[in-house]
Amino acid sequence: MWQDMRIGTGYDVHRLADGKELWLGGVRVPHEKGAVGHSDADVLLHVICDALLGARALGDIGTHFPDTDPNFKGIDSKILLARTWDIVRADAEGGDWSILNVDTTLCLEQPKVRGIVDQMRACISEVLDLHIDRVSVKATTTEGLGFVGEQRGVSAHAVVLLVR
Ligand code: MG
Repeated sequence: MWQDMRIGTGYDVHRLADGKELWLGGVRVPHEKGAVGHSDADVLLHVICDALLGARALGDIGTHFPDTDPNFKGIDSKILLARTWDIVRADAEGGDWSILNVDTTLCLEQPKVRGIVDQMRACISEVLDLHIDRVSVKATTTEGLGFVGEQRGVSAHAVVLLVR
């Protein structure tokens, strides 16, 4: 049925600091701290970018959108995700790729995001033009342990499966 399948994973961390906005999965999350980064520091969208690129062995988000490039300063990571998917989807060998599913885990202590994961899924679904049933966002704390538990940072993991 499928000629080819590829799997990719992504992992990313951003520091949390006072006076920054917190963007997760394309959604602005009200919180006293926000994530620090060259872009809008949306860790969840970044790991999806990396998983997509990884599935095609096309490097990582830093390869395509260097954090030394002023064009990407403060950029909305939804734009990075859309551009990443454009890069990954097309294959010179012929036959564009489709995403079978995306599964993600967000690791943060505060705030609780369970009530807004469906907004994040809807946003990712829209950017990737993928049915929301194929987009999973899970969230966990680390039980107060490590940099996530101490609320010094936020991390995320993603897995994607591509087919054509
Ligand atoms: Mg990042």
